[in-house]
Amino acid sequence: MKSQQASVHFNENGTPVADHFGDVYFSNDSGINETQYVFMGGNSIVERWQAHSNPSFVIAETGFGTGLNFLVAMQAFKHFRNANPSHPLKQLFFLSTEKFPLPKPDMEKALLSFPALKEEATALSTRYPMELDGCHRRHFDEFDTTLDLWIGDVHDLLSQWHSPTAGLIDAWFLDGFAPSKNPDMWADTLFEQMARLSKVGATFATFTAAGFVKRGLAAAGFTVSKRKGFGRKRDMLVGVYETEAASTLAEKRAFEGPYYRYTQAAIAPKSHVIVVGNGLAAATVTLSLAKRGINVTVCHDQEALATGASGNPQGGFFPQLHSEASIASRIQAHSFLYASHIYHTLLDDNDTSTNTALKKTPVAHDFCGVAQLNFNEKVAVRQKKLVANGVWPEALIKPISPEALSEKASIALPYDGLFIEQGGWISPPDLVRALIEQAKQYADVTVLCHHEYLSHTVLNDSDKASLSDALAQAHHLAVEFSVTAGIEDSSHNKTLYADHLILATGAGAVGSSAFASLPLRPVRGQVEAITTQAPINALTTVICHKGYMTPALNNRHALGSTYIKNDLSTEVRAQESEQNLQTHQQAMANTDVVQQLKHDGEARAATRLGSPDHQPVSGMLADFSALKTQYVGLSLGKPLYTAAPLPATPVSTLCCLGSRGLTTASLMAELLASTLTHEPLPLNNDLCQAVHPARFMVRDCIRSIFDE
Ligand code: SAM
Repeated sequence: MKSQQASVHFNENGTPVADHFGDVYFSNDSGINETQYVFMGGNSIVERWQAHSNPSFVIAETGFGTGLNFLVAMQAFKHFRNANPSHPLKQLFFLSTEKFPLPKPDMEKALLSFPALKEEATALSTRYPMELDGCHRRHFDEFDTTLDLWIGDVHDLLSQWHSPTAGLIDAWFLDGFAPSKNPDMWADTLFEQMARLSKVGATFATFTAAGFVKRGLAAAGFTVSKRKGFGRKRDMLVGVYETEAASTLAEKRAFEGPYYRYTQAAIAPKSHVIVVGNGLAAATVTLSLAKRGINVTVCHDQEALATGASGNPQGGFFPQLHSEASIASRIQAHSFLYASHIYHTLLDDNDTSTNTALKKTPVAHDFCGVAQLNFNEKVAVRQKKLVANGVWPEALIKPISPEALSEKASIALPYDGLFIEQGGWISPPDLVRALIEQAKQYADVTVLCHHEYLSHTVLNDSDKASLSDALAQAHHLAVEFSVTAGIEDSSHNKTLYADHLILATGAGAVGSSAFASLPLRPVRGQVEAITTQAPINALTTVICHKGYMTPALNNRHALGSTYIKNDLSTEVRAQESEQNLQTHQQAMANTDVVQQLKHDGEARAATRLGSPDHQPVSGMLADFSALKTQYVGLSLGKPLYTAAPLPATPVSTLCCLGSRGLTTASLMAELLASTLTHEPLPLNNDLCQAVHPARFMVRDCIRSIFDE
C-alpha cells in the first residue's frame, strides 16, 4: 500500500516540525550532537563495535524521520571500519520504521543543516525509497552499511520481523516524538516486541524519561537507568536486555512454526557454498553471498553461463501489479524496487555506492520505461480499478494518455494505459555475467562448467573422519557431480565439499530427485528476435499487452512470448513465430504499427520453471513428503504457529522465478543469503512465508482436513 507522507514545516531555526504531531524531528540546538549523545553514546555504540565478534551489528530505530540518526551511525561505522580494517565486524545493519515518510525534498532540505554529513546525505538521497509500505533494503557499500527502511506503523512492523533464537537486534534507538505528542507509539506492545527481538546484552537509548516508558521497558525485561538528558533536557533513559529475561523469551522467537527461517547454524564469512545453476537465480545468490565474504563455487552442466531461461537477448523489467496490494503484487513491487536499486549500482557508471574500485562489466540495457497498453475492455476495467484504488505510488505505476504514451514510445499509438517509469529492458545473459564478475571481486568465486549435479550427502563425524582430505573434513556436505571434459562420451564423477548447497537450477530441476517433493510447473516460451523495420525501429519504450515488444538491440527487437505448459523442448517453431506476431497484431488491432511486421525465423525458445501459485521459491529444500508426518496436526485444524520448525538442512533452493526472474531474482537471493547468515530479512513475514519452499507441503496438510 502507498503510505501517507509526512506534512512538515520548518521553524525559525530551520528545524523540520511534523504538522501532524506538532513536534520537531530533532533538537533545535544541535541535531547531530543530540544523536551522538542520546543514541550513539546512550548505547555505547562505538565501544560495543570494538568488542563485537560477529560479522554484523544490528541497530533498530523507531521513527526514521529525516534519517539523521542513520547518517550519523553510518558515518561513525565508516570511521570504525577504516580504523579497524581487519576487525571481524564488517557490516552495519540499520533497521528503521517510519509511518509517515518525509517527501524527499523535505528530507533533503532538513539535512542541508548538516554539512558534516553531506556525503552520507547525498548517498541517502540517491537511494531514498518511494512511499510504499514494507521493507526497502538499500545497500550503502561505500559505508559497509545496509539500511532496511520499513515503511508502516512500528506496531505492525516489529511483529513481522523474524528473529534467530539468539535474537536479532544489538541496539535500539527509541525515537518517535515526545510520548506526550505521540502516546500511541510508546505502548507496551512496542516494548514486548523489543524484548522478543533483542539479543542478550542488547541496549536501548531514548531522549525521553517518561515514567510509563521506563516502567514499560522494565516490565518487558530491560534493566533501565536514567542519565542526564541532552541540552536542556533533564533526564533520558538507557538500558540493557539482561540474560535471564532473554532465556525465557527465546522460544517465542520461533513462533512462525514450520516456516521458521533460521533453522541451520549461521554461515560465516570464508565458508564455502556450492551454487548449482547458470542463470539469474544462481548469479544473484552468488553475488549476495560473495558480498558477505562467503566463497562460492558455481557449478553447471553447460558450456557457458545463461544458456537456459536467462539466455534471451532482451527481457522486460517491470513488476506485475494488481489493483489490490495482494501478496503476489507486493512481492512484485518490492522485488522490482530492490532489483532496480541493485541494477543501478551494477550498471550505472556514475554510481559511487561501492567502496572498492569495482570493475563494471558492460550490460546491454535501457531503463526506458514500460507501457502497459489498455487494449481491450477487460484490461480497461482492470487498469481503471488499479488507478482508482490508489494502492501504488505514482512513482511506481501511473496512468498515461495516448499522447504521452506515444511520446514515450516515439511511435504514434492510439492507446492509453499504465506506465512504469523505472522499468525497461535488460540483457539477461549480460546481467548474469556481470553479477558473477562483480561477485568475484568480493570473495573467492569460481565457475565450473560441464559439472552436472548428481546428488549430495550430509556428512556425519565418522564420514568426515574417513576422508583423507583435511579440507574436505572441515565441511559437512559432499556434493557429487558428473564432469564431462568436453571430450565426447568421456565423463567422470567428482565430489566437491561445502558448508551449504544451493540448487538454483531452472528447468534442470524437473526430474531431479532433490526437487521430488516440490510441485514444479515448467513452461516453454518462444521469443522472436525481429529485424528492426519501420515503424518499430523508432520504438523507445517497452510495450506490453498480451505479449511484449522491446526497443531494438543490435538491430533486433524481442517480441514475445508463447506460453506452453509442461513442454520441455527448446527447438524454435515456425508456428510459434506466427503466433507471436498474431498476438501483437490482434492486441494492437487499432494501429498498423505491427500489422505489416515480418519475421525471418530468428527466435529463441527456453523452459521457464514456475510453481503452482506462481510465486518464486526461496529457502531450505528438504524431502517435504517425508516431513509431512510431523505436520499432521495441521490437518486437525491446529494453527500454523503450533507446528514445530522444520529440521535444519544444509541445502536450499532459489527457483521457480518463471518469466519474472529479472524482477524477482535479486530480492529472493538476498532473502536466502540473509537467512543463511542469520541477518535481518528484507521482507515482511507474510511475504517470506509466501515464497518458502515448504508452503506446498503445509497447504497439502491443511487441505487434507477436507479430503478425509
Ligand atoms: N530519527 C529521526 C531522525 O533522525 O530524523 C527523527 C525521528 S522523529 C522525532 C519521529 C519519527 O517517528 C517521525 O518521522 C514520525 O513520523 C515517526 N513515527 C511516529 N509514530 C510512528 C509509528 N507509530 N510508527 C512508525 N513511525 C512513527
